[in-house]
Amino acid sequence: MTDPNDLDPPLRAAIMRIRAEVCTLHALLPANGLVAWTAGNISARVPGADLMVIKPSGLEYAALTPESMVLCDLDGHVVDGRYQPSSDTGSHAYVYRHRPDVGGVVHTHSTYATAWSARGEAIPCVITAMADEFGGEIPVGPFALIGDEAIGKGIVETLDGRRSPAVLMRNHGVFTIGKDARAAVKAAVMAEDVARTVHLARSYGEPIPIPEADIDALHHRYTNVYGQQPHADGADGT
Ligand SMILES: [Zn+2]
Repeated sequence: MTDPNDLDPPLRAAIMRIRAEVCTLHALLPANGLVAWTAGNISARVPGADLMVIKPSGLEYAALTPESMVLCDLDGHVVDGRYQPSSDTGSHAYVYRHRPDVGGVVHTHSTYATAWSARGEAIPCVITAMADEFGGEIPVGPFALIGDEAIGKGIVETLDGRRSPAVLMRNHGVFTIGKDARAAVKAAVMAEDVARTVHLARSYGEPIPIPEADIDALHHRYTNVYGQQPHADGADGT
């Protein structure tokens, strides 16, 4: 384990900021009904370094503090932390190694999205909010065992060439990516929301597909035209 006091002061400051940010964002998972007990995790890349900060394994959400977050390298090894990192650390690290554009990764077993994953069924793009945020269906990734980087490989391979920041890992749950951890949390909240809506729609009939050209137009507007301010969260009509 590296002594964090050996790191440059600007890097130490960045790590402290990311620890606080990742800790604060974790509160959004239970607040949005996305997790039960200690399930779920968030990580963030430390900008300018081959490092990431991730949730400690097995701690209850109410007990999380910035200091309890675990600093790891991008091979998933602990650099600084009092606790063992999340059992998904190897997979988060794999995503950061293979996707330099990704600054945050979120994982939940949120109910409706995980129900789609249990059927191995992609969520079809049948509402405009989905076209906005996901630019198409939310795809299904392969079944993979927890504990090494197999899940990360499945995430990277499934999302390659797609606009969706979310993937349903078969028989498991949802993983989302973003330019930062906050964007990945937003995608996790939206994935559960659309999973529930499309589930309800299909319970009562056959959802109407949105033509591909309209999905493209909606996604383009949402990502390039709507909300120029940093952290603008609104979708259509908000
Ligand atoms: Zn899981």
